[in-house]
Amino acid sequence: MLLTKDILDEKDKRLRKKNKDVTFPLNPSYKKIIFEMLEHLRLSQIESEAEKYDLRPGMGLAAPQVGINENFFVVCYEEDEGVFKDYVIINPKLVSHSEELIYSSGGEGCLSVNREIEGIVPRYARATFEGYDVDGKKVKFRVREELSIAFQHEYDHLHGILFFDHIDPKDPFKNADLMREI
Ligand code: ZN
Repeated sequence: MLLTKDILDEKDKRLRKKNKDVTFPLNPSYKKIIFEMLEHLRLSQIESEAEKYDLRPGMGLAAPQVGINENFFVVCYEEDEGVFKDYVIINPKLVSHSEELIYSSGGEGCLSVNREIEGIVPRYARATFEGYDVDGKKVKFRVREELSIAFQHEYDHLHGILFFDHIDPKDPFKNADLMREI
């Protein structure tokens, strides 16, 4: 099982490295880590489990956060109370997006960043990502709102970007009036 200590901290240089595209057939060890990443995220969003395993709640993880500098990420989204949907995307590309920008009202969080950071992270309200599943089959996800924020946050990780890179420390709520708060 993937534990909190297995997730790299923001200061780790591997989070800032260039990431390679994954080749198929997928390395079997990647299938295992993808399963473990999703399991970690699901349990982290269930209060009793999070407490039991000392997990911070999170809905997404990208490969570099577990020390793999290759292009894939996962998202586990609670669609309904206790109902989770898993997303896996390998070699993702952001192929289109809305003009409308949104930001998360509570600020963004990251399992690699163990501190509160205030401020606005502008994200597209709607976005389309294309990539591959674990079997190398093409996949396309049209995401919106919270899920769109999560996908863009994880996609950033694959480009060595952390969410607070988008925040101006001198003016963390800059341009809030140009975006919709969700
Ligand atoms: Zn993150």
